[in-house]
Amino acid sequence: MRQFAVIGSGPAGFYTAEALAKSYGDTARIDLIDALPVPYGLIRFGVAPDHQSIKAVSRRYDQVAEGEAVRFVGNVRVGENVSIAELGELYDAVILATGAPNDRKLGIPGEELPGVIGSAAFVGWYNGHPDFADLDPPLDGEAAAVIGNGNVALDVARILSKTRKEFAGSDIVGHALDALDMSAIRTISFVGRRGPHQIAMTPKELGELGHLEAAEPVVDVADFPPLEADAALEPGQRKSITHLRDFAARDPAGKAKRIVFDFFARPVAIEGDGRAERLVVERTALDGAGQSVGTGETYVIPANLIISSIGYATPPIAGVPYDDRGGKFANDGGRIGDGLYCVGWARRGPSGTIGTNRPDGYEVAAQIAGAMPPGSDGGKAGAAGLDALLGERRARPTSFADWRTIEAAETAAARPDAPREKLVRHEDWLKVLGR
Ligand code: NAP
Repeated sequence: MRQFAVIGSGPAGFYTAEALAKSYGDTARIDLIDALPVPYGLIRFGVAPDHQSIKAVSRRYDQVAEGEAVRFVGNVRVGENVSIAELGELYDAVILATGAPNDRKLGIPGEELPGVIGSAAFVGWYNGHPDFADLDPPLDGEAAAVIGNGNVALDVARILSKTRKEFAGSDIVGHALDALDMSAIRTISFVGRRGPHQIAMTPKELGELGHLEAAEPVVDVADFPPLEADAALEPGQRKSITHLRDFAARDPAGKAKRIVFDFFARPVAIEGDGRAERLVVERTALDGAGQSVGTGETYVIPANLIISSIGYATPPIAGVPYDDRGGKFANDGGRIGDGLYCVGWARRGPSGTIGTNRPDGYEVAAQIAGAMPPGSDGGKAGAAGLDALLGERRARPTSFADWRTIEAAETAAARPDAPREKLVRHEDWLKVLGR
């Protein structure tokens, strides 16, 4: 028998557990450990609440969690309840699927002012992550800025723009829905340090901005290169640019909110009297390699809420080699060292779709199966050893059956037009479990 611990129950963790279960059959046991009492990681806490069809992939993960070989162990934080070294003693292999939940820093003066928020925190707030339940983002000003031109920036701007009616069918948490409903924000500026051809927004998601009830995208035609230049783009990017060109060609519809694309603008400072009031940017141009270079000209974008959406990093774990530049664990094709592996964003860095994690997890599982063939025995204590250790420490792990109980409570508490009302705090989850 082989014993494996997968740390993190987001997409990368589930695909890896699935792959290990498939290749080992009944000759391995896999503990899928999560710091939170509930599973799904990015699916629950990252994917936008109005993108329910993407979240539906969790049903496939349920089959993995309910399989014979896999056990979900929630509410256990590695580094707090159990160390990596202890897991290394208990399991034949430990696979880190911890994602990239930390915001990268802008590294500019004023970043610490109230009103400047990383996208992980803002997304966590509207998706009901317990760490951000009390974020209380300032929505009382007329202007907000979202720094970055990626899909997370798009999610954030869209959520800031939608009406209560447009959230029907979503599982946005009640505290965010109510706060957004009262929002005074009328202008949301996307601040991109490069131009339209360099956006990292995908076409389907960008296209959604063209169909909002109370908000309209505003794009300046002067920011584009000549139309012929679009032919050199790869097809997906060309579709995105076609959306932008369409937005630029539209007459203003006079909607209440404007989503303004501010291209060629590099943030240099955030200023304000006790809170963010304006973002100072430097006008940029592209160099021969398509990178942004400052022109020396600066201007100001007013904003009381500034959300930086410039990418994420994996939190380091004591004793695990870390690649600072990449914001991920130092690894060779997913292998960190003897019996220690990483998958997903913790392996590759924060890019790619949810589906990218599947081949990633399968590849690392195949490496593990190569190193310790199915049917072999490592003599490790596995689940029984973990349970004994957690018992000594009075940790209170949750099972997948516990999650089903929480899920039923969330479904029962849903608004009439919502699939669930997420419980947001540790104590609420544990209360539903009678603890
Ligand atoms: P991303 O796609 O890497 O975009 C990051 C953006 O931040 C880029 O526009 C980048 O500009 C900009 N940026 C980086 N450093 C900056 C700085 N110091 N100052 C100003 N701008 C800076 O990252 P993401 O938006 O966090 O998304 C992460 C991954 O999740 C992506 O693969 C994304 O497609 C995926 N995702 C998908 C969906 C969906 O609905 N399909 C939703 C959310 C996320 P440069 O290009 O100039 O570096």
